Parts: sequence; structure tokens; C-alpha cells
Amino acid sequence: MLNAFEPRVVLQEVPGEVSLAWLVTGCPLACPGCHSQDSWDPHAGTPLTEARLNRWLDRYDGLVSCVLFFGGEWDRHSLLALLRHCRRLGLKTCLYTGRERISGLLMAELDYLKTGPWRAELGGLDSPYTNQQLRCLTTGELLNHHFRRAP
Ligand code: SF4
Repeated sequence: MLNAFEPRVVLQEVPGEVSLAWLVTGCPLACPGCHSQDSWDPHAGTPLTEARLNRWLDRYDGLVSCVLFFGGEWDRHSLLALLRHCRRLGLKTCLYTGRERISGLLMAELDYLKTGPWRAELGGLDSPYTNQQLRCLTTGELLNHHFRRAP
């Protein structure tokens, strides 16, 4: 079972989607300079059950088009169940992971995937030097350009 903090609705993290975003706790990667170190403890937050997900989706019924998970790939079984649940409800799915790669089983349940650990010297998705990539898995399109400000 994964734990997560309370979710929030976000407009920018997945271009073209209104996403219910969950910060899953227990990330084992320990990137230097991580902005979410309070989420490293897997006991932080509360259990991310389907019932809890449903309560929040009911609250934003008709508004949210996608469910975004910041992490959770370290418990593949639990995350797969949540992704499949979201898809059964007709919602798109996105994972932001600090890993370079994830399993094919997870990929098959995702519409969008952000890969790559946080490297402060390279910056995030809004940086031209970033090591991170956000892709639409349906088309293979790289979506990083949506995060860049015009010069
Ligand atoms: S992957 Fe993300 S949450 Fe995990 S340590 Fe790195 S920056 Fe922090």
C-alpha cells in the first residue's frame, strides 16, 4: 500500500490536462536538493486507497481529466492497481518518476511519463539543459517545450 499527502488540482504539470496530483510518500532516490524531502518517509501521509481516490474524484467530477502520481513506482503492484482504476473511470494517467526507466507493465497503464532524477545544476522541465523528459506515451511526443518560457 502506498501513502500520499492530500492531493491538489494542477493545470501545468500535464499539458492540456486538468490533473488531480498525488505526492506519494516513500521515494527512495534521495536526489540531492530534492524539494520534497518531507515525502521521503514512507509512513508520511495516509493510505492511497481506491476509496480515497474516488472521494477526491467525486469532488472534482467533470473537472479533472487526468490523475498524476508524483512517485509510487517503487511499489509497482499498488501503483498498477491505482492506474488501472483511473483508466476504468475514463481518466488519463501520468507518472512523474525520478528513474530513467520504468517497467513495461506500468508504461502500458500510462498516458504520460516524466523521467529523470532532479539535478539542480541542470534544472527541471523548464530548463533547456534538463536531464528530465516528459512524454505523451500515446504519440511518443516530447512535451518539454510546453514548460519553456519564451526568451
Ligand atoms: S525523485 Fe523526486 S521526490 Fe524522489 S528524491 Fe528525487 S527529487 Fe525527491
